[in-house]
Amino acid sequence: MTAPLPLGSKIGILGDGQLGRMLSQAASRLGFNVVVYGPDAMSPAANVSAVSKVARYTDQEALNRFAAACDVITFEFENVPVSSLEYLVGKGARVAPNARALGITQDRVLEKSFAREAGIGTVDFYEINSLSDLEAALAENGVPALLKTRREGYDGKGQVWIRDVSEAEAAFSSLNGRAAILEARADFQREISVIAARGYDGEVRVYPVGENHHIKGILSTTLAPAEVSETLKGRAEDIARRVLEGLDYVGVLGVELFVLEGDQLILNEIAPRVHNTGHWTQDGCLCDQFEQHIRAVAGWPLGDTMARFQVEMTNLLGPDILAWEALSQEADSRLYIYGKDEPREGRKMGHINRIKSTL
Ligand code: AMP
Repeated sequence: MTAPLPLGSKIGILGDGQLGRMLSQAASRLGFNVVVYGPDAMSPAANVSAVSKVARYTDQEALNRFAAACDVITFEFENVPVSSLEYLVGKGARVAPNARALGITQDRVLEKSFAREAGIGTVDFYEINSLSDLEAALAENGVPALLKTRREGYDGKGQVWIRDVSEAEAAFSSLNGRAAILEARADFQREISVIAARGYDGEVRVYPVGENHHIKGILSTTLAPAEVSETLKGRAEDIARRVLEGLDYVGVLGVELFVLEGDQLILNEIAPRVHNTGHWTQDGCLCDQFEQHIRAVAGWPLGDTMARFQVEMTNLLGPDILAWEALSQEADSRLYIYGKDEPREGRKMGHINRIKSTL
């Protein structure tokens, strides 16, 4: 596609969470109409969108209508079945990012194998399909090592550290027979991420690197632009570019990286969508990651990724949201609330971007 989608075109979003909500808001600001597709009627994204389709991701009838209704279809949720994307393409829909990119990034083994082929470092890893695979991998790698499900893990879920070989059996059975990966421990000094975009014409734009802090496996804060050396910055941009090009990607993605000694970088994970560690761009940059993604999939020129402010983004998890009144009074900050009802422990309810300095 070369011609930009005209105003009033319909953009379909698979997935109905907060990322869909913020994508939808960015799209409507640019004059598009959004059709959200997801399982919940009262979801964060459906509540702010012109049209919402409430259906399972595998409902062919609903997918047929969705394909017919949209000028381009994208997703905000990486666990949409690849077969559903392929089905939509088969029905003549334009889908971005592509199904292959989703398939690779949904699976930790495929993802790390892809990274290595693209010349990007990762921790040592082993494909685990049985207890004997795990025992052999532990014998080769040693302990500690981290056993993760290959698919559908997020926020530290579906992960278990093995600190002694005797824990192998219990760790394996805790995954309930799901295919897994064993990862060597990354001896990292910092965790950073890079958010980047690519258009249909192959143009790439990369945002400044953010530094991330997790609490109990869940992202707590991102500070961006992070204080990093020029060398590290260059390496992170190079990785983002290799990932985007290797996946023939159109849209925004997030790449989580571990910083090792000597500013060496290895890839932890690729998120084939806008990413929580990119929320700082809403107040740090003229074109935030949500607008950027909509621009990319709509074939519009990509926006400016230069940071105007250094921002600290803090997630409001579960009951943190109850402090909204005090947070709303803070100067130099902006509050984003996702419109979810129950503030369950660890649930992402909103975030606050605090301006740290003008650049
Ligand atoms: P993930 O779901 O893979 O992003 O992992 C969540 C968090 O667990 C990461 O942000 C790291 O803090 C930690 N982690 C994941 N993989 C490793 C590893 N191989 N070595 C050390 N820490 C890890």
